[in-house]
Amino acid sequence: MLTRQELVQAEKYLKLNESGEFVIDTDEDLEIIDFHTHMCNVLPIKHSNPKSKGNKLTFPTLPPIEKTDFSVPYWTKEELNINRKGIMPIFHYAQNAYAVLQDMKKGGTYDNCFKSQADNKIGINVVLPLSTKKCDCSPEALRIVADYPNRFIAFCSVHPDDPEMEEKIVKYKALGAKGFKLKISDIELKNDFKPLIRLFRTCHEAELPVILHTGSIPVDQERTSKLLWKFLRSTRVELFGRLLEEMPKDFVFIFGHSGVCEYKRVAEYLKRFPATYAEVSSQSQHSIKYLIDEVGYERLLFGSDWPALPQAITLSRVLMATAENKEARDHILSKNAKRLLNQA
Ligand SMILES: [Zn+2]
Repeated sequence: MLTRQELVQAEKYLKLNESGEFVIDTDEDLEIIDFHTHMCNVLPIKHSNPKSKGNKLTFPTLPPIEKTDFSVPYWTKEELNINRKGIMPIFHYAQNAYAVLQDMKKGGTYDNCFKSQADNKIGINVVLPLSTKKCDCSPEALRIVADYPNRFIAFCSVHPDDPEMEEKIVKYKALGAKGFKLKISDIELKNDFKPLIRLFRTCHEAELPVILHTGSIPVDQERTSKLLWKFLRSTRVELFGRLLEEMPKDFVFIFGHSGVCEYKRVAEYLKRFPATYAEVSSQSQHSIKYLIDEVGYERLLFGSDWPALPQAITLSRVLMATAENKEARDHILSKNAKRLLNQA
């Protein structure tokens, strides 16, 4: 069976650290802002303390080594004929989602974050809280920045059905939030997108960039149960992309994960809406290169989704995609983020 060591041997910008974790492999001086990260206290579950020590991350989001293929989005070998019918695949999916959240809750600590930043030459993590109707995690994200103002930038997150949505967004901006994050689906919105449009308008007025989780993994509808299909497609790119028609042309919208497997559709939206961006966590060197070729490098943002995923993997994909284009590299790693976050 293939080992992690054998896997990184073929990788130009990836190696293992002393603990066997993926870290980047380059001597170059890089300035990096990671535009997509979380912490243990900004998740839609009971918070744990980011000051906890000694907790290890295991990254259950990553495919097992034998199923890893870094050349495709989500880095998972395409399995033809995989059957996702019946109740078991739904059960496994839910079980994995639970394991991922628990791992983030346990390992999304300051200690682990600073170690990963040091191993991967990352200067700043943009912390994206994941709020639900019941739980607004924005104050926790702001607390992280208060603890370590040089290491983090906070976004806020408010559910569209929150009765104080508008006031809260204005308040969080005043308290230092530099943008807005939401993970939501058509299932949760019951296919009524009006509250989301209202929220977008509030962010536009407050001049906050908005990043949404967009996209899904590739699944074959024929071999997937109706329920799982509906669920996996519930954050698809077009759901949110089509809302841009209803927004002013200068609305700054960021496609989180560049739509995972739907990055080509994201490129189409970026062409149509000049104020939109794509954040590249979970993409491959080929899909990042595709985005650069299609839309240029001035609206692409490096993000990792740490601690759901290691910072080094997407980062090494960006380094590969920009090996011949240092200007593109600088823009994707920090210049575009600085412009968006008014840090230039
Ligand atoms: Zn995320």
